Formats: sequence, C-alpha cells, structure tokens
Amino acid sequence: MAEKLSAVKGMNDILPAAVPRTEKLPDSQLWQWFESAVRDVLARYGYHYVLTPVVEPTALFVRGLGEVTDIVEKEMYSFTDAMNGDRLTLRPEATAGIVRAVIEHNALYNGPLRIWTIGPMFRHERPQKGRYRQFHQLDVEALGLAGPDVDVEMILMARALWRELGLVEGRDVRLEINSLGQPAERKAHRDALVAHLEAHADRLDADAQRRLHSNPLRILDTKNEAMRDVVESAPRLIDFLGPESLAHFDTLRASLDAVGLAYTVNPRLVRGMDYYNLTVFEWVTDQLGSQGTVCGGGRYDGLIQQLGGKPAPAVGFGLGIERLLLLLQALQVPVPSAAPDAYAVVPAGVPLPAVIAAVESLRGAGVRVQMHAAGPEGPGSMKAQFRKADASGARYALVFGPDELAQGQVGVKALRGGDGTQVPMPLADPASWAVKLQSPA
Ligand code: ATP
Ligand code: MG
Repeated sequence: MAEKLSAVKGMNDILPAAVPRTEKLPDSQLWQWFESAVRDVLARYGYHYVLTPVVEPTALFVRGLGEVTDIVEKEMYSFTDAMNGDRLTLRPEATAGIVRAVIEHNALYNGPLRIWTIGPMFRHERPQKGRYRQFHQLDVEALGLAGPDVDVEMILMARALWRELGLVEGRDVRLEINSLGQPAERKAHRDALVAHLEAHADRLDADAQRRLHSNPLRILDTKNEAMRDVVESAPRLIDFLGPESLAHFDTLRASLDAVGLAYTVNPRLVRGMDYYNLTVFEWVTDQLGSQGTVCGGGRYDGLIQQLGGKPAPAVGFGLGIERLLLLLQALQVPVPSAAPDAYAVVPAGVPLPAVIAAVESLRGAGVRVQMHAAGPEGPGSMKAQFRKADASGARYALVFGPDELAQGQVGVKALRGGDGTQVPMPLADPASWAVKLQSPA
C-alpha cells in the first residue's frame, strides 16, 4: 500500500457528524448552522458579503499590523513565490486584506461600506484546544463611519448572533471594552508607561524587555502571570484621554446601557494589532480555558491612510469560529437536525428509474429525501433497509412497493411515533402532500 499522508499539524478537516473524529472538533453541521445564523443576522444590519484572497503581499501585514506584534514577529506563514520571487504571506487576519481591497477598488467613493467575510486564517502558533495554525474567522467591517454609534452596532451584531445561537450574554459570553484614545494621547501615556516599566525592569520577561521601547503598550497584553503585578500597577491609558476621546467612550457606554447590555471596562484590554484607536472590545468566555476570547475588535481610523488610501475611519471585529463552536458544544446548545425528512425504501425488483423519478419530484417539492442506494448485490432486505432509514434520522419512510408503484403511489410511514400504518400517496401530485413531510422549521 502507498504511504498515507496527513494534514499539516494544527490544520483540521471539518467533517460530518457521522464520521468518527479523533480531534474533538465541531462537526460540519454546527458550522453550517453557524454560517446561516451569520447570514441572517448580518443581513438584518445591512452588511454585504465580500471575499478577498487568502494570499497577500507580505508587506501588507508588516505595514498594516505593525512590525512589533506577535503575528508579524513570529506567527506568519511567509514564503517566496518560486515563479517570480515575490514575498507572500497566508493571511493571519482579514482586516488588512479588506482594507487593501477597499483602497484598490476605491470602494468608499460612493460613501460608507458595511461588509463581512468568512474564511481561513493562518498563524504559526503552538496548536492546542481553541488555537490552531489554520483557523476560521467571521470578520465584519464598517468603513467610512466615525461615530460611536457604529462601534455599538458592531457589538450589537455580535450580541444578536449570540441570541440567534442560543448563547446568553453575561453568562456564556461577557463583553469587555476599553478606549485606546488617539495617537497623541497614547504617546503621553506611553512615556509614563515606559517610566513605570523601566522602574520594574528586573521583573520583565525577555519579550517585554525587547518591547519596552518599541511597543510598550503591547506588554500590557502579556499572558505571562509573573508580570501580572507590574502590569496591574501600570499607568492607565484611560487617565490620559482628552475630552473628545472621553466623549466617544461615554456615548458608547451610554448606548450599551440603553440597550441593556452589561459590560466591564478592562483598562488592560489593548488587542494584538497596532492599528486600533478609540474603542476596543472583546467577547470572552470562561468555558474555554486560556483560549477565552471568542470575538475581538475595535476602531482603526488610521489604517486606511497608513496603507495608502484616502483617510477614512473604520471599525470592525473578528470572531474565532472554532472557539465559538467549541463553546456551543461545551454548553450543549441544541442544533437543528441535519437528518433527511424521508428515507426511500426500495424493495428488490422494483424498477429503479421510476423510483428515481418519483424521489426527484419530491425533492423538487422541497422535501429532503435520502434514497437507499443498492450496491451490485441488490438493495438488501426490507428489515435492513428500515434499520438504515431509522439510523438516518428521517421522520418518514417512503416505501416504493411494486403494487403501489404500479398504481402511481408511494407508501408513507412515520418512523418516529405514529401507529406504524403505511398511507398511500399519489406520485402524480407530490406538492399536495410533500409539505407534511417537511420538518417544522
Ligand atoms: P489570542 O489572544 O487568543 O491569541 P488574538 O488577539 O491573537 O487572540 P485576534 O487576532 O484578535 O486574536 O483574532 C480574533 C479572534 O480569532 C480571536 O478572538 C480568537 O477567537 C480567534 N483566534 C485567533 N487566533 C486563533 C488561533 N490560532 N486559533 C483559533 N482561533 C484563533
Ligand atoms: Mg494571538
């Protein structure tokens, strides 16, 4: 036998529930349910779908995310295109690519843009539960809009999605917010922060030592428990905000209060990318250990200009799909069934073309029908077929007995509940009764 190949470490196959999976990752049914909820919710807020490439020029991320970030320093899958020597990178996040596309197509020409995308992202991290090298994000962005009302809209869309999926905010997911102010305010805070960190230089780990002057704000984002005291006693950015930044933050908070959304202000919330200003937020859960952030975002008013576009404000968020689905799984949130409505039982000797035509007309009427496919040895006994019908999760069996078929009928039998009787239905007019087979939505 030829040698077997496996997926790249930290990159997963997403498979139907029926396939026994060694990695306990959510099955594809949960994915599809999530995606349909996303489509519903985002349409309600007037957001449009976009797709951008998975590969972008390396320079886009270096310029967009900042050189002294975890992602750019150590997590990017970068390579040289062997055909022409271009430096390319598998996207580690979606915002930079979207902004590149918006600039390239002059997409803000006619006014603001509300868009979203979904797809794989790549980061060379140590794989563990909720942290992979290929993972998926829902990414939502509003470009060309400056007000705190749009920041609130971002947060509310996420809440609407939680509700659609049966998660309870405050219990299953909690909102944390902060304001990063504007560059000048950050500069004043930065000087105070560096002074504080220098005074505790002996307590800083190697990463922090290195970032002390290049990007001290990011030190506050450390996951190193040993630095907790130093970080907690550090000067708070919020105390350096001027009246405009404070007003923006106050409107955000008042709007969250107005819609009854509880939150905590986390002064250490800085987020991983350099491009954020004013509002930043995260939705976190206690259910996933240290991989507790399921959704994070904020305002990035300087990024479009930084990447060569005409200055325009923007705000957005990224949601980690694997983490969210792991959370739904951990909470045993009920998921709509992927089972067919009906299973077609086909006794041996029945003319298959007539059955195929009948099943197809039912599907045309909107019924999900799984057909019992006979192998070369024939369809198997009725008993064996009914066992498969049961296992499929279908609520009805369609029994294509030769006598019924000869009269243009099919026998319909309830598999769950019901009195076990088989009711003949006319094949000529499936639309008149097909609706009864469909699962209540
Ligand atoms: P973390 O602090 O957990 O590393 P991050 O700040 O790097 O997260 P973002 O860049 O803000 O994450 O990405 C948005 C979301 O994408 C995260 O909140 C998380 O849910 C998800 N995410 C990020 N990295 C991974 C990964 N390696 N595997 C799975 N999901 C991820
Ligand atoms: Mg990270």
